[in-house]
Amino acid sequence: MRNEVTRRRFLSTAAGAAGVGLTIRSTGVAAPAKPALLGGKPVRTAKFPSWPVFDKSDEKLMVEAVQSGKWNRVGKMVPRFEEEYARLTGTKACLATNGGTSALLTSLMAFGVQPGDEVILPPYTFVACVNVVLALNAMPVFVDTDPETFQIDHRKIEAAITEHTKAIMPVHLGGNVANLDAILAIAKKHKIPVVEDTCQSHLAEWKGRKAGSYGDTGAFSFQATKNLNCGEGGAIISNDEELMEKCYAFHNNGRGRKSTGYTFTYTSHGLNLRMTEFQAAMLLAQLPRLEAQAKTRSENAEYLTSLLSKIPGILPEKQYEGTTRNAYHLYMFRYKQDEFGGGLTRAQFMRALEAEGINCSGGYGKLNEEPFIKNALTSRGGQRIFSRERVAQWEARNKCPENDRLTTEAVWFTQNMLLGPRSDMDQIAEAIIKIKAHAGDLAKKAKG
Ligand SMILES: *Cc1c(COP(=O)(O)O)cnc(C)c1O
Repeated sequence: MRNEVTRRRFLSTAAGAAGVGLTIRSTGVAAPAKPALLGGKPVRTAKFPSWPVFDKSDEKLMVEAVQSGKWNRVGKMVPRFEEEYARLTGTKACLATNGGTSALLTSLMAFGVQPGDEVILPPYTFVACVNVVLALNAMPVFVDTDPETFQIDHRKIEAAITEHTKAIMPVHLGGNVANLDAILAIAKKHKIPVVEDTCQSHLAEWKGRKAGSYGDTGAFSFQATKNLNCGEGGAIISNDEELMEKCYAFHNNGRGRKSTGYTFTYTSHGLNLRMTEFQAAMLLAQLPRLEAQAKTRSENAEYLTSLLSKIPGILPEKQYEGTTRNAYHLYMFRYKQDEFGGGLTRAQFMRALEAEGINCSGGYGKLNEEPFIKNALTSRGGQRIFSRERVAQWEARNKCPENDRLTTEAVWFTQNMLLGPRSDMDQIAEAIIKIKAHAGDLAKKAKG
């Protein structure tokens, strides 16, 4: 009897959760097995589902694109993709580009962002967001992160607006959704255009409508790691057709829709950021899988959250109330060393998790403090645009303490890990519970 009580208490404290008790029992021992790093058997030796996913249908469309002899957007595939993607996202228009970076840059160009202007963005994002701002000789103004959701903290945006602010770029990071209601209200009040960075959030939804369809534009990436993938590629979606004409011209060397073939008229300056037929062929082949993949990711991610949220020290990402669908490009949680116990650092925790056969990443660093940003603002050209005083002000304001902490606590799983059976999620939880039960020993071993 006494033993039974002790064992039960062990399962509900050290093991963390009654919900994952099953997993423990299935290992056939009272205490969680030894971690792989301490000589135990890894929870998992099988690989997680591989990415990309493709079959004969991809080959067929690719061959069709080759045989058409029309390899750039004069063919049928790019317009067909644009039509389908506009329909899928519930927007009036879609413009395919050669990448997500290009989609962001084109959006900012179409808004009229110019040298010396300011663009508001989060520090917890991929570097492309900063690069497009600097490419226009504009100033990236970082607004701190809401660590609970990993998204830009909408409550801090308004204070960052100045007379120079010419765009707001919320990023729906990891497939989760930034607080669009709050952001759009601020943007409207100050008459500042919004480009939603939806590079990681295909099919994500806010209040039942697709992320990317709320802002003046939404910018997608179809780069190899993204949930919709054609190697490299991107798209802009919008309900503003006039704005989309500007985007079209900019991505086509300033040549609007009337300037075709050997007629040369220009409506603006621009670049060549066009998508090829091969990219569109791959996207048309990949599109039919998107919904089912997204559904599998959500189901697995929600189940994983139900398991992990019971483990002290593991804080899965939260969502705002308006988020009706998280696309889970990443599965993100915070690792709280003190609550997890044993003095196990995040780096040691991740190493132990890897040893169990669970790949993970510590995510982004302090992007707002990357030296290349200040270098650009104070470069020879930068000095002509930004006074010493303005750069000093920028530096003084460039403080993101919540984000700083988040970069030391975050742990990510990639989207492909959510594409397998539910038992994969059980194994992730089992590995973490095992590590927690032996956290002290693992920390000791790491020290040497
Ligand atoms: C991938 C990504 C981009 C850039 O897209 P590319 O297609 O690689 O140019 C921009 N923003 C975010 C948040 C991304 O994840």
